[in-house]
Amino acid sequence: MGENEEEAVVLPLFAAGTDDEAPLLMKAKPDWCRHARTEVDGEARRVYCRDCKREVPAFDVLQRLAKSHDRFVSSRDTAQREARVLRGELENLKREERNVKARIRNAKKKATELGE
Ligand SMILES: [Zn+2]
Repeated sequence: MGENEEEAVVLPLFAAGTDDEAPLLMKAKPDWCRHARTEVDGEARRVYCRDCKREVPAFDVLQRLAKSHDRFVSSRDTAQREARVLRGELENLKREERNVKARIRNAKKKATELGE
C-alpha cells in the first residue's frame, strides 16, 4: 500500500476568520459506529463495539435491546397462540382416529358374527 492511499479528505471543524472558535459544522456525526455487536465492560460501566472497539452510548444500546425484546415478546405470543390452536386440532384428530378404529373393530366383529 502506497503512502498516499492513507490520505483522507479532512473538513475544517472551525471557520477561518476573526473567530477561530466558531463552529463551521453545527451538528457533527455521532462519534460512534452503527455496529450491532456490543460488549459490556461491567467494571468500567461502559459499552464497546465488538468490531471496531469504539465506545458506544449505553443508552442507545439499552434502547435497541428494549425494542428487540418487545419484538421477541410479540412474536413469542403469536407462536404460543398458534401452538394452542394446533394442539387443539391434534387432539381432535386423535379423537377421530380412536372413533374410526372403534368403528372398524365393530364392523369386523359384525362381519365375523354374520359369517358364522
Ligand atoms: Zn463498530
